[in-house]
Amino acid sequence: MILVLSGGTGGSKMVDGLARVHGQAGLVAIVNTGDDGDFYGLRVCPDLDICTYVLAGVVADRGWGYADDTFRLLEGLATYGRESWFGLGDRDLATHLHRTLRLAEGAGLTEVTAEICARLGVEATLLPMSDDPVRTRITTPGGERTFQEYLVRDGARDDITGIVMEGVADAAPAPGLLAAIAEAERIVIAPSSPVVSIGTILAVPGVRDALAARRADCVAVTPIIGGAPVEGPAARFLAGAGYPECSATQMARIYADVAAVFLLDSSDAAEAPAVAALDVRPVLTDVLMPDHAARARLAAEALGALP
Ligand code: GDP
Repeated sequence: MILVLSGGTGGSKMVDGLARVHGQAGLVAIVNTGDDGDFYGLRVCPDLDICTYVLAGVVADRGWGYADDTFRLLEGLATYGRESWFGLGDRDLATHLHRTLRLAEGAGLTEVTAEICARLGVEATLLPMSDDPVRTRITTPGGERTFQEYLVRDGARDDITGIVMEGVADAAPAPGLLAAIAEAERIVIAPSSPVVSIGTILAVPGVRDALAARRADCVAVTPIIGGAPVEGPAARFLAGAGYPECSATQMARIYADVAAVFLLDSSDAAEAPAVAALDVRPVLTDVLMPDHAARARLAAEALGALP
């Protein structure tokens, strides 16, 4: 079984690539839930949904939400003066409504996620990092925001002065999660945000130690090229979390205790000695995943870099 740790838009590209080279059966993804939130009383799990829709082959070209969705319900809510900045399509809303109803019936998030995956024809196993709610909150000079308020509503334009993962200290790893880490043949840390995607997963008690025990079989892929994220505000999150630099080497440093191998971009070859000095084996390659072929190639290289 191949295990991958993932966030949403960036991580799901690697999840997709692994599914293409390894097949979905025998692929397990541990997915960040710190971005989750409640909208209009509905539980929305953005990273789980992105990974689910990618594996189901129904994701929209923009990288999140359902393909060919409409936004009539959101338009209707805006008519009544309700906030409508978080893009929830009509077909997508069925997922959130169904999830919310099942949770209210007493099902756990892991169980509901498995049900949703089965209905959408996803053969891979998606594990939320925890069934317990963890909510990433961002403090800016203007005050505290939920993760989605900061990222989507406010466009991640403010500096970050603090990041809190509310509930994480009391969160239990999802059922089967620690066993999956122990049993995986190979483990891949996707090029997701090191702070608010992978960092949140690693902060669930027990997860970082379990991964550290598998360090020799774990490879991490950089989300940073040439000192900047491939896309998105990861640099702000790194600075907000107190990391001194935004670089591939900084990524390798963050993951040095859990990943013995690190894929960085060939254009960052000058950083390879600094990575090696961390007792992490640098592997230089093209880490961009613009299309399905690139995702499959990089996934194969990540797996091939492990013993
Ligand atoms: P989110 O949960 O939607 O914010 O997405 P993730 O945390 O999964 O991924 C965000 C990260 O993905 C960003 O730091 C990007 O730099 C990275 N990323 C996006 N596309 C690519 C790509 O093609 N290659 C690599 N290596 N990283 C990427």
